[in-house]
Amino acid sequence: MRLHLLLLALPFFSNGQNHQQFKFDGPAIVIHGGAGGIERKYYTDEQIAEYDSALKAVLKVGYGRLANNANGMDVVVECLTMLENDPHFNAGKGAVFNDQGEVELDASVMDGSTKMAGAVAGLKHIKNPAKLARAVMEETSHVLLIGDGAEEFAKTQDHEFVDNEYFLTPKRKAQYERWKQMKKNGTVGVVVLDNQGNLYAGTSTGGMMGKKYGRVGDVPIIGAGTYADNNGAAVSCTGHGEYYIRNNVAFQVNARMQYQGLTLEESAREVIFGVLNSEAGNGGLIALDAEGNAVWTFNSKGMFRGAMGKMTTSQKVILHTDIFGDPTWPEDCGF
Ligand code: ASP
Repeated sequence: MRLHLLLLALPFFSNGQNHQQFKFDGPAIVIHGGAGGIERKYYTDEQIAEYDSALKAVLKVGYGRLANNANGMDVVVECLTMLENDPHFNAGKGAVFNDQGEVELDASVMDGSTKMAGAVAGLKHIKNPAKLARAVMEETSHVLLIGDGAEEFAKTQDHEFVDNEYFLTPKRKAQYERWKQMKKNGTVGVVVLDNQGNLYAGTSTGGMMGKKYGRVGDVPIIGAGTYADNNGAAVSCTGHGEYYIRNNVAFQVNARMQYQGLTLEESAREVIFGVLNSEAGNGGLIALDAEGNAVWTFNSKGMFRGAMGKMTTSQKVILHTDIFGDPTWPEDCGF
């Protein structure tokens, strides 16, 4: 049995089949900063260190709050806000441009204990879309608000407005000039299991570089890029959104668990390497279930990712981040 578990825990190195599972005891957080053509050769040591410390900072804040009994939705939104404010990632400041050279932002959140959800799409002036997504969930009877209507709604709330130029960074301007060649993503996502045993998920993005003006991706589509259900898993996706919408990826991970009786890790692998690979979708996901099982699974070259929580076997709190394929994991990863 132990050997069996060990084999399952081994990452798959070939054909972009990157997958790891781990198990936490108590509250836990898993985050991603986007998947895509993320290869070692494109990054300097300094840049890697920057991404690494950005991910670790978010994990420490998130796990610290969870360990102090914070509500999981508060943690998801706080962590997404940190990632949106960080220009390294394709969400909030530093988001990619549409084909008109503007930023349009999408985000969503979901509460796995109530299955309530909120989402926004096509925002041009809201500094932190994840906060507005939460407000849609909590303050309206709707799930998804878009564009001007979403921004009108934000005016009735305490949301920070910025000029569209705020989101534009020199790096993204340079990328925009050559966007046809670019295959890089950088959406952000957070899934948590809080001390009350509830699951929450959230995702925020600028979408795909050079996307058509008005295009909405998977991120604000509940069931495509984000889903949470205490009876299944909290899931946040990143990758080529059209494939995630067509395949209902985040919900499919839940459905396979709940209707086929698969474990989280079996389900995540089937969806990413079975469904998405055959469709040539490019990306990955992070997920957590209510038992503390966690996975990150991606068929792209890399995915910015990290996790923090107490490992079941060692009873040690692990703070771990990774970027490229061929994942590494500390010795006492619990298997
Ligand atoms: N899924 C996002 C979208 O298609 C992009 C990404 O994850 O990088 O909008």
